[in-house]
Amino acid sequence: MVERTLAIIKPDAVKKCVIGDVIQRYEAAGLDPIAMKMMHLSKSIAEGFYAVHRERPFFHDLTTFMSSGPSVVLILEGENAIQVNRDLMGATDPQKAEAGTIRAVHGASIEANAVHGSDSSETAKFEIGYFFPGMDFHAGR
Ligand code: ADP
Ligand code: MG
Repeated sequence: MVERTLAIIKPDAVKKCVIGDVIQRYEAAGLDPIAMKMMHLSKSIAEGFYAVHRERPFFHDLTTFMSSGPSVVLILEGENAIQVNRDLMGATDPQKAEAGTIRAVHGASIEANAVHGSDSSETAKFEIGYFFPGMDFHAGR
């Protein structure tokens, strides 16, 4: 099924100048960018995005990190896009991520792990609406 997922190239990856490399990996995996913007998340925008994690001990550090510099936020579209992107990203902890995944290649730590990807269709819908309000979720490329 053709799906859409929300991806973020996080501030650590932008600082490392690997935006192009990450987007090339999306495209090579059949994940077509259909919307994209660079933005410096405020602390409160990061908190709203990660609201599901607000009780976690790492919430403050995570939202501080996410607001530490510009990110690139994208909607990716493709066959099974949500799972394909999760597989391409690798495990949350780059040290545990499979070789060749984006996090294994570019992630520095469990926090600064280069990329975000929606983890379910419900999450994708919320996250796409959060950053691209008003975009028709079901429109084609
Ligand atoms: P994922 O991004 O793989 O879906 P989670 O949803 O569990 O992972 O966590 C969201 C983000 O919070 C992670 O990508 C990472 O940046 C950060 N994070 C997760 N676990 C930890 C942790 N134990 N310590 C610090 N940061 C963490
Ligand atoms: Mg997650």
